[in-house]
Amino acid sequence: MKHNQWIRVALDVPLAGPFDYRVPESLEAIKGQRVLVPFGRRELIGIVLDTIESPSYPEEQVKDILMVLDDLPPLRQDWLDFGQFAASYYHRPVGEVLLPAMPSALRKPGSYTGKLSKGGPVARLDRKKKKPRVPEPPEDRMHVLNPEQQQAVDTVQSLKGFKTVLLHGVTGSGKTEVYLHLALDALTKGKQVLFLVPEINLTPQFEQALLARFQQVVGLDGIAVLHSGLAEGERLKAWVAIQRGQVRIVLGTRMAIFAPLQQAGLIIVDEEHDASYKQQEGLRYSARDLAIWRAHQLDIPVVLGSATPSLESWQHARLGRYLKLTLSKRAKTTYMPAIKLVDTKQIKLEQGFAPVVLHAIRERLARGEQSLVFLNRRGYAPVIHCASCGWMSQCPRCSVYTVMHRMPGHGNVLQCHHCGYYGRVPVKCPDCGNQDLEMLGRGTQRVEEYLQAAFPQACVERIDADSTRLKGSARKLFDRVHSGEIDILVGTQMVAKGHDFRKLGLVCVLNADAMLFSSDFRAPEKLFAQLAQVSGRAGRHVAGGEVLIQTAYPEQAVYQALIQHDYDTFANASLEERKITHLPPFSYQVLISAQAKTVNEAMQFLLEARQLLASQPQLSGFQAAINMYDPVPLRIVRVAHVERAQLLVESASRPVLQAFLGHWLPLVQEIGKRHRIRYFTEVDPLEI
Ligand code: ADP
Ligand code: ZN
Ligand code: ZN
Repeated sequence: MKHNQWIRVALDVPLAGPFDYRVPESLEAIKGQRVLVPFGRRELIGIVLDTIESPSYPEEQVKDILMVLDDLPPLRQDWLDFGQFAASYYHRPVGEVLLPAMPSALRKPGSYTGKLSKGGPVARLDRKKKKPRVPEPPEDRMHVLNPEQQQAVDTVQSLKGFKTVLLHGVTGSGKTEVYLHLALDALTKGKQVLFLVPEINLTPQFEQALLARFQQVVGLDGIAVLHSGLAEGERLKAWVAIQRGQVRIVLGTRMAIFAPLQQAGLIIVDEEHDASYKQQEGLRYSARDLAIWRAHQLDIPVVLGSATPSLESWQHARLGRYLKLTLSKRAKTTYMPAIKLVDTKQIKLEQGFAPVVLHAIRERLARGEQSLVFLNRRGYAPVIHCASCGWMSQCPRCSVYTVMHRMPGHGNVLQCHHCGYYGRVPVKCPDCGNQDLEMLGRGTQRVEEYLQAAFPQACVERIDADSTRLKGSARKLFDRVHSGEIDILVGTQMVAKGHDFRKLGLVCVLNADAMLFSSDFRAPEKLFAQLAQVSGRAGRHVAGGEVLIQTAYPEQAVYQALIQHDYDTFANASLEERKITHLPPFSYQVLISAQAKTVNEAMQFLLEARQLLASQPQLSGFQAAINMYDPVPLRIVRVAHVERAQLLVESASRPVLQAFLGHWLPLVQEIGKRHRIRYFTEVDPLEI
């Protein structure tokens, strides 16, 4: 075989490249291998993208690679292609996509060079091999499918090759059961399954279900879990096993879309509407959207499941591009919970609770059923206030208020939810000396405290980001809910999704209205999804499930649709509005967000970027098809002393928008160099 002299390498550096290297006679490097290369004064690990005829710059400037890391099988061509697609679609250098997708030990020189037998994180992990987990198979695992489930399974099984399937199943309709049947089918055909879930805290539940069902088929090591909560060694071990082809099922959060699959036969995206599928830093990708591309590339089906599909997916289904399958009834009870609106305009609330809501909790307690109180606001009180001069607890670094938290062992502290700032709670008003500072509003801690006082005989627990900070604590809390030990659960969105609570009869929603008047055009869609999800926790296994939503605006369309359990009408009406206003999915968007010391600098940069469309001759062809909004400061303009503004770009055509970005973004980059700003580009932004 002829020696490959020149290769092109992907490196995780914020430069476009390409980065070409020479392979010395003594080495052999093939596509998909990791190589150690000199870069400036550093040494970096890169991935061989290609062997090339000749380098793209003078040969005497091309450096030699230092080492080939052949500890793992080369990354496959389809994986490299997938990364290249993501890089081009999201307009990032390919190395910034491919390398961060891998565990850090595989991309840091010296930390893992394949000496598996002697030392190295993999070897260490192998030695103290985990005791096999033998999960208690939950009593109701093997189910006979109901006709709708069977129909869904049959339909997907009969597909040949790529198809996007939208599995629209009401909460509790047994979507999981459908996924498991489809997974079994793929496994028995010798294929791998990639299973994406939105939240880390949903992975144990699914891992257990997968193990219970498939351990005999794939073995204990046949299932790999990938999410950001893993220790580095665990993540490395999972990745290595996948890349070596030892894994049959990959379960994970959004990052798992980059798993180096070998034989994928099916991709499942549970709760496809969930915003957690969107990565919010670095490469701002949507794992849901990439899953569709990946399935297309591999020519396999992808199943998107949700009770409240995103309007994007719903529109695709309406147009017949996605195959829509419906589970219209609950699997266990056949009843949806009764959703009632509690109008808070006319009544006096007791610590944030309407009397009927407290009464309902009391009744459930008496019947030995659980209640869930949902409040999407953590901490004790959202702000501290001086009634005599108007002072409010403001974060010194951000344009938001600090939230009062009770910290066991530390007393009360003020905490900023945006920059992490901590401060003491002042004993008197810093401006006027008034000693009677008030706590305004309430968060989950205060609600928990009140409920414990109001129902002293009950076991009240809180599940939110604060109460689950320690590794494993979320799982313990959820186990206690499942065991029935907890009577009243107070929680944020963490408890709203996916969990199959058996003894939960009542759901109470406290501050739903907070999202009603947001300026984000997706706010009603998100509110509907969130409330439908949390409502869906009620009465999954017992009849008589009930949901009480406190609102001052019961007449709002989103609430009216919700009490009817009428996603279809809500979605169709929302799409009509989006169509009239030319908003997604009837248009495609890109957001440029700029950060600077002052918002004026950020705005100035965005204004210049915006003007390019009119001033640059090479962009003139795009003028008719591209709509640029005026740059605006963000609603929370300052975070950690940095001020922010954004520019929204829109087009009715995705290819036109992509082509425009290809021309425009390099010019924007030039402008960026002349300003003291940082900026990032987000294709298909979810929050505006
Ligand atoms: P979803 O994900 O659609 O909200 P789940 O998959 O959690 O719903 O299912 C809800 C409950 O119904 C689970 O406890 C599940 O075990 C049960 N279930 C699912 N399918 C069936 C079936 N065919 N017969 C009886 N129970 C079922
Ligand atoms: Zn004061
Ligand atoms: Zn702050």
